[in-house]
Amino acid sequence: MKQSVKMIVGNWKMNGVSAALAQAEAIRDAVGTTGQGCRVVLCPPATLIDRMQSALAGSGVAVGGQDCHEKAAGAFTGSVSAEMLVDAGATVVILGHSERRSAFGETDADISAKVEAAIAAGLEPIVCVGETLQQREAGDAIAVVSGQVAGSLPSCLAERDFAVAYEPVWAIGTGLTPTLDQIAEVHAAVRAAIVAKLGDGARTAPILYGGSVKPENARDILATPEVGGALVGGASLKAEDFMPIVNAAA
Ligand code: PEP
Repeated sequence: MKQSVKMIVGNWKMNGVSAALAQAEAIRDAVGTTGQGCRVVLCPPATLIDRMQSALAGSGVAVGGQDCHEKAAGAFTGSVSAEMLVDAGATVVILGHSERRSAFGETDADISAKVEAAIAAGLEPIVCVGETLQQREAGDAIAVVSGQVAGSLPSCLAERDFAVAYEPVWAIGTGLTPTLDQIAEVHAAVRAAIVAKLGDGARTAPILYGGSVKPENARDILATPEVGGALVGGASLKAEDFMPIVNAAA
């Protein structure tokens, strides 16, 4: 298992054409080659991975994908395999994002299969979990998230580098965030579920928080127990928003 430094991951989602590489370069220049005491990863659309990797090579910023197919190759029109992400220059992949779970109907079993494919290709998966507002209001947040961890993490992850991202669905892109106590409570439950599934060796796997992380709230969230970093959507698109979050983790 890698690291005890925090991990800050930018998820650009379906945003960015060539011009957006200037933001990645600005982030690269600000981070330098040291990573500033934390790990920084940018996950652009698949079409930009290759060029972003060239722009960031040798810097403290790594490149990741946002999804992969569970099969290595074949008749799956429009899909990208884990090996293709590696070939383009990715070292990390986000899997099971709530937008994949809701808009594309991905189940825990689907995500587990994708994690296996990512590990087989040599990628470090970041597996996303999180409850909806309805589930939280029904008092089911811990049970939902623990169930997603149990179902989405295959046993091949034991002794491998991976991360879990706790992203409450109702906090993504809304400006809303849970209280720090709520984040701490869910992160403790995620840790317990990870260890129950994969054993003590998984005690150091980072658990990232995601959902409306911004320069204004990053420092407090990153100082919360069991928060090993952040998965950042909207605020990762511009260097001026992303760098204060990176600096809060350093
Ligand atoms: C995300 O999409 O993973 C995310 C956390 O988005 P935002 O930071 O915009 O809420």
